[in-house]
Parts: sequence; structure tokens; C-alpha cells
Amino acid sequence: MKNDTPVFDPVLPFAEKWQLDFVNQFIELKKLQKLPHAILIELRTSVDSRSFGWHLASALFCQSDGQDKPCGQCQACQLMAANNYPDFTFTTLIDNDKTHKLNKDIKIDQIRRLIHQFSLTRNLQTGKVALIYPAEKLNKSSANSLLKTLEEPSSDSTLILLTHNAGRLPITIRSRCQKWVIENPGQRMAEEWLNQQNVPSEQIADYLALARADAQLALQLFQQEFKQQQDNFSALLNNYILNQIDIVSMVKSLKMTDSEKLRLVLKTELQNMIYNLLQNELTIALKQQLSGLTGLLTKVDSTLQTEDNNLNLLLQLEDVLISLKQIVK
Ligand SMILES: [Zn+2]
Repeated sequence: MKNDTPVFDPVLPFAEKWQLDFVNQFIELKKLQKLPHAILIELRTSVDSRSFGWHLASALFCQSDGQDKPCGQCQACQLMAANNYPDFTFTTLIDNDKTHKLNKDIKIDQIRRLIHQFSLTRNLQTGKVALIYPAEKLNKSSANSLLKTLEEPSSDSTLILLTHNAGRLPITIRSRCQKWVIENPGQRMAEEWLNQQNVPSEQIADYLALARADAQLALQLFQQEFKQQQDNFSALLNNYILNQIDIVSMVKSLKMTDSEKLRLVLKTELQNMIYNLLQNELTIALKQQLSGLTGLLTKVDSTLQTEDNNLNLLLQLEDVLISLKQIVK
């Protein structure tokens, strides 16, 4: 069993400053021996948070009494840094053996492996921790297979399900876990933090609005030059509306398969169009356009963001763009 354990590159443990209080609460619970056996942690940010998961696990193992946990110096921290901690299991999306592409879900074999490792006697004195992230990617059978472990936890073991969307987990799983939520920082802390991350002050409000107050997402969008992508989208859309390119080449030229980003680009574009329309005196034709655009905005908001399948995503995008062209023509 040990031999087919997938080898991960160790993840650098890291928590943002607004997440530290939360980690400290867990350290306190552990000291009091009141750490629940199954914890479901929902993060409000949509940004990749495996570093946070590793930070939390490392903090629970860390042997130092210092303020900064994990200390990075003790035996536990060093074993974690080398991904060699015998009582830690990390279950995440892995590459498919055949296609070498990242799986779309967490497979039952991975959960069976986790359960096996959880059943082994622990090696060190710090208890066992299994981290599953992103837990919303558990498929039906892997979630079912996990249930028994949740019902009959082995002593001194903690299962942490870290997720961006607890609502996507089966109720049977949710009801067996203690639920925690890590909020995004408030407006002021978010602005300060983005400033420290070198986002130009005149762009901070725009990016925070784009990211719906998710500071980490705002930073990521800034770093990925989202505004340039938005301009590129607007230019392509204009060409498409003027019949200079067809729908297929427009979608191809976008080269975007990230549903979250695509939704944002589309949404921002529609909001801009609506805003521009409202600067005019509304004729009957413009009123019709306005209602068409707001309808489309609602659709983009509700459907595109839940779509993980790339092909479906692109088909939906085509659908939205075709409607958009009909509305503005
Ligand atoms: Zn340490």
C-alpha cells in the first residue's frame, strides 16, 4: 500500500494574517484535547488554498511553544517541509495515470488509501491529521467511502476537509463534521493588504469590486493582468458584433478555460455595456436592449460559474455571445 502512495511536492505552509486567529483557535483546542475528529472548513476566498491547509496541519504538529506557528525549525516542521511527516495525509486532485492531466475529482482509491493510513498506528506523539482539499471535489463514491471513517473516528486523529464550497458536499458528510468558516478580510484590511502587495492604490477599489471583496482573488487578478484580458475581450467582441470574425474564432482567440475568470470578464463587459446604455436617454429600443443585457447578466452569474466542464463552458459562452449580438444589433 505504501508504495502506491502518490508523492506530492511538499507545499509551503502559509496563512494570510486574517487567517492566523483561526489557526490559533485550533492550536488552543488541540492543547485542551478538544480538537474535533472531523472538521469542515469553508474558505470564502476562491483562490488556491493548499498552502493554508498545510499551514494549519503544520501548526497542529509543531512542537515549539513560540508565537509563530509553524516555527519551521522543530522536527515536526522539518518533516512537514520535506513532506515526510509519518502521521500526515494529504488528499487532493492528482494527475490521471493515463492522460497525465489533472483529475476533475478526488477518486475513491485516494480515500481508501487515506482510510488505510488513518488506521495505522501513529509514529509520533502529535496525533494524526488527514487533510482533504479541495473537499468539494470528492465524487459520490469517494464521499460515501469517507462516511464510515467520519462515523467511527480513530482516537487522536483529525480529519480536515478544506473547501471553497461546503454546499457542494453531501449533507451526510457535512452533518458529521464541525463546521467553520474563514471569512475574507474586511474592506479596510483588504485595501491595506493589497497596498502592501504593491497593487497601485488607484486600482485597488476596482480589483476588489471585480473580485467581490475577495482580497486574495483581487491580488491574483491584478497579477494576471486581468484588465488587459478584459480589453482583449472587448476588442474581440466588437469585431464579432461587426461581423469581422465569427463566433468560433472569437471563442478560440479568447483562450480562456477558467470558468471563474471567464464569468468575471463577461460580467464586467455586460456591466460596462449596461452602464454606457444608462448614460443615454432611453428610447424603446434602448429599453429593450437594457432588459436583454440585464437578463443575460443574471444568466452569466447563475450558470457559468458552476460549470467545470470545459466543453460545456465554451458552448455556454457561445450561447451567451450569440444572444449578446442579437441584443445589441
Ligand atoms: Zn515547529
